[in-house]
Amino acid sequence: MIQKRSHLKQTRRLVLKIGSSLLTNATTGVQQTMIDRIVEQVVALHRQGIEVCLVSSGSVSLGRVALAANAPCWLSRSLSVHEKQAAAAVGQPALMQAYHQTFAAAGLKVAQMLLTRDDLRHRRRYLNASNTAETLFSAGVVPIVNENDTVVVEEIKFGDNDALAALVGRVIGADLVVLATDVQGLYDANPVTTPTAQRIADVHHVDERILGMASGSGSSFGTGGMQSKVRAAEIATRAGVVLAIVGGQHDQMVTKLINGGDLGTVFYCNNDRHNRRQHWIAELLEPEGALYVDAGAEQAMLQRGASLLPIGLQRVEGDFDKGDCVAVVACGGQVIAKGLVNYNNKEMSAICGMSSEQIEQCLGFVDYTSVIHRDNLVILQRSQVKL
Ligand code: GLU
Repeated sequence: MIQKRSHLKQTRRLVLKIGSSLLTNATTGVQQTMIDRIVEQVVALHRQGIEVCLVSSGSVSLGRVALAANAPCWLSRSLSVHEKQAAAAVGQPALMQAYHQTFAAAGLKVAQMLLTRDDLRHRRRYLNASNTAETLFSAGVVPIVNENDTVVVEEIKFGDNDALAALVGRVIGADLVVLATDVQGLYDANPVTTPTAQRIADVHHVDERILGMASGSGSSFGTGGMQSKVRAAEIATRAGVVLAIVGGQHDQMVTKLINGGDLGTVFYCNNDRHNRRQHWIAELLEPEGALYVDAGAEQAMLQRGASLLPIGLQRVEGDFDKGDCVAVVACGGQVIAKGLVNYNNKEMSAICGMSSEQIEQCLGFVDYTSVIHRDNLVILQRSQVKL
């Protein structure tokens, strides 16, 4: 497992995320020099047997430039959601064309994968995306992922391509996610305004101090801001994938990073790692309801990793079916876990507070003795409690 920089040499598959600010120019469109630099890196990594999946932003910004050729207002004012979606539809093929041509000249084929959060919420589609990526890798093709902007609205968006890259890291079974941006990593103060600002090289746990640095005065630089990058680091590391934030302007920054170079900020995995299924539940599923539990159940889940039994239930809220995701709420009112339920809301309300032996008598059948089995239960950390 990757626990320090010298271990980054073990990387066999990685996600490289490139932000719009590196790739595009607000008035001229694609920054070909940046595309050349990325392709050069990916080709060099390929030669070393390292598989790369690109997550590339830039469709909205390229679309705006293209549309502004006929109507300058596409660049001069802020756009509505539908206008951004239209711009993405125009810009995405232009983005892919730039990658396609440059990779082709270097002898590599590319493939476009457009994903939405909704796609990854469905277990089957999640697995399809994973299998498609796997097949592309075995055919020596470079997958290029972006959010399918034309079909998503604000509420169901990944929010930013930093989070998308972290999730893709899990979907494709990467060892490392690299977020290439226009700063050199996470700093303890804004490096633009504070000359003494220090880069944080290694982060083993995202705590309040790290979150403070990301949300402080230095947060406004870089695509999506530093906050979205640290949030992405939390998503990736909980899924067992190391994440690095690096300055994208440098040549061969990924090769340097993998060879143990002292650049950027690397976030390592800690012991709170989730398995693939838990990661899917924690990061992608929206709760359809809530189960309010007593102190005994809370303790059993948090301290012993126990399943949730009907006896620990105090109240059931929402309209959900067997197999749906619900939030588990402790006595204090805080959401402590998420899980997939074994009974629907009506059955759950009927057996609320009962011992498992009473389920059959009450419902006339017993499918499970627990209401959420521990394999389908994920204890949340502070940063995930935003339900
Ligand atoms: N999907 C958007 C685009 O291609 C970018 C979102 C982001 O950069 O976070 O323009």
